[in-house]
Order: sequence, then structure tokens, then C-alpha cells
Amino acid sequence: MPSIPPGSKVLVTGASGFIAIWIVKYLLQNGFSVRGTVRSIEKGKHLQELFKEYRSQFEYIVVGDMAVDGAFDEAVKGVDVIEHTASPFHFHAEDPDDIIKPAIQGTTNILESALNYGTTSLKRVVVLASTACIIEPILEGQKVFSEKDWNRFSLKEIEEKGRGATAAHKYRASKTLAEKAAWNFMKINADKISWDLVTIQPPFVWGPPLQAISSLNSLNTSLVDFYNTITGKMEASPAHIGNWVDVRDVAEAHVKVLTTEEAGGERFIICACEVLRHHLAPFSWQDVLDAVHSGPSEEIFSTVPRGVPGSGKNTLHNVLMDTSKAKDILKFKFTEIEKAVKDTAKSLLSRQW
Ligand code: NDP
Repeated sequence: MPSIPPGSKVLVTGASGFIAIWIVKYLLQNGFSVRGTVRSIEKGKHLQELFKEYRSQFEYIVVGDMAVDGAFDEAVKGVDVIEHTASPFHFHAEDPDDIIKPAIQGTTNILESALNYGTTSLKRVVVLASTACIIEPILEGQKVFSEKDWNRFSLKEIEEKGRGATAAHKYRASKTLAEKAAWNFMKINADKISWDLVTIQPPFVWGPPLQAISSLNSLNTSLVDFYNTITGKMEASPAHIGNWVDVRDVAEAHVKVLTTEEAGGERFIICACEVLRHHLAPFSWQDVLDAVHSGPSEEIFSTVPRGVPGSGKNTLHNVLMDTSKAKDILKFKFTEIEKAVKDTAKSLLSRQW
């Protein structure tokens, strides 16, 4: 599939979400037109206001419940690209199906609509998956995961423990099964489909939120522990937590996979991990405090605790990510931890909650 030029029309599902708003912003800045799906007119109006300088390039469409058959039939008409980001991301599902079903149905519904109502102009479908679809717990030593890996562990946990599985595994299973459903859909409909599929797999995503946040309770999931750490509500430990990436890098990836011909049919880990300098992406909460206080001191950070500076530097990080594919094919250069952390912290600390 040839690369997709600026000026093309991109449907972004879940456009009011933390990551999706940044995707929309980067697409608009790079000359693409965007139709965003939102769950309410109010959310659509927030986006219209945010992107008012791109009035002629941006429109929204309300799609109430993406799990309903045909939910996206209208939305897909006439677009050149679909970027599917909508999926429940929270850690409070009791019944695993509460999170797994909407994730799978949202994904298969957008693909069904693309098949039935997408026009011949449709060239590429991009699904925002996750490293949750790839990683498994590593209790001893280290493992570098790549796009060849699949998370079987969370699926087994759900099969064996059902409601008793941890909330993290319920979420990870929802992402894994939704991504599997997408690749499977491509396989079984190969003879009818003229577009290709790309998946993007980020770990924890940080960055300044642009979405409307009515209260601290509605802060997006991947910033909750970050906020609790920089405000001292959660003690920062030097232990390995996971890997991270800046939301602006995830947004850029959603542009690069359109303008890069060879991206078609690939999974891409988008993670600020540099295996040789592995403390850069696998992180501990202490690393976050150290990054906030690095460089010249700033008044806004004066209330941020310091923890035990440097104590995370020798942590053995069990789970590492191989990002060579993003670097080789997409020519990716990732944001450094100091910038990502400081921008995120500034944005969160300057709000009145
Ligand atoms: P948000 O919760 O901010 O965004 C989720 C989006 O999905 C929102 O637009 C939300 O709509 C929409 N959505 C959720 N459930 C439904 C549903 N049942 N029907 C229709 N729309 C729904 O989270 P993020 O921006 O962080 O996540 C976006 C995507 O990125 C998700 O697929 C997530 O799994 C994935 N991801 C996120 C990572 C992170 O660290 N943030 C890491 C890796 C992947 P509404 O705005 O109306 O609530």
C-alpha cells in the first residue's frame, strides 16, 4: 500500500480520549483532515473549540455505544484511513467481560463497518493496541519483548480465575483479545479487503492531558499513579513498575504509520526504551521524582517530594522492550524522560481540581 498523503481524511474513534486528542492534533498539524467519533455532543464541542484554528479540517460525529452492531457504519463513509483508539481503559472491572466485550466488539465493529461501508478510498486501518498485548510478568532476570511476542499469561489468568483475576490482567486480556480479533478479521476477510492493518503498541503513556477533566476522579488511568506520586499521595519506590512513552510520541507514530509505506501489516512497539541505556524507559516512581527535580529548580515543583534520590538507578528492570522496528522503519526518536515528566507534572500541578 502506498503511503497516505496529507490532505487525506482520517477517522479517529474515541477522539475525546487522552491519547486520541493528541493524535487528532498531530494529524491536523500535518495537514490531514479528521473526523472524530465521540460519545456526546458536549465532547464534540470541546474538540471543536480546541481545534478551532483547523475548522475546515475537523469534524466530529456522535457514536453512542460502539459495542452496538453497525455503530460505525455512518462514521466510516468516505474516509481514507481509520485510526481506532476507543477502548475502555480502567482497573475496576469486576466481571472480565465488562471490559473484554466492549474492547473486542468495538474493534470488530469498526472493521465490519469498514468492510461494509468503507469506500474504495480506504487504504489503512490503524488500531491503538498496547504493550499489554505483548508483555508477560518476568519474576526473575530480564526479558526484552518484541513485536513477535504475545501475552498469553493474562488470557490464562482470566480463564483460570475469572472475576478473581487482577484488574490489570482483565485490562491486558481485553487489549490482547481485541488486537487478536483485528488480525484474525484481516485473515478471514483477506479476499474482500483492499486496505491493510497496522497496530501501535505503547506502554504507560504520560504527557499533558488536553481532554476535559471535570474532577480528579476522571483523570485518565495512565496518569493517576503519576499524579499520586508527584503530590506525595503515593510513596515512590525504587522498584520496577513498567515502561513509559510520551503521548506526543504516540501521536507522532499515528502520523508516521500513514506516511511510511512499509508500515502496512506491521505491529510497532512505541516505547521510550533504549536497551543499552535501559533506565530510560523501564521506570520506577523514584525515577519520576528524580526527573522532576533534574536541572534548574522550578517553583512549580517545590511541593513535589524528593524520595530517596538516585535509589532507582540500580533497579533490575525485568521487562524491557525492543524498539528497533520503530526506529528502523518509522525513523523514530523518542522524547527523553526529563521532558516528558516535567511537562506532564507541570500540566497536572497547574490545574485547580
Ligand atoms: P482514555 O480513557 O482517555 O480514552 C479512552 C477512549 O475510549 C475515550 O475516548 C472513551 O470515550 C473511549 N471509550 C471507552 N469505552 C468506550 C465504549 N464502551 N464505547 C465508546 N467509546 C469508549 O484512555 P487513553 O487515551 O489512555 O487510551 C486510549 C487507547 O490507548 C485505549 O485503547 C487504551 O487501551 C490504549 N492504551 C493506553 C495506554 C496508556 O497508558 N494511556 C497505553 C497503551 C494503550 P469517552 O471519552 O467518552 O470516555
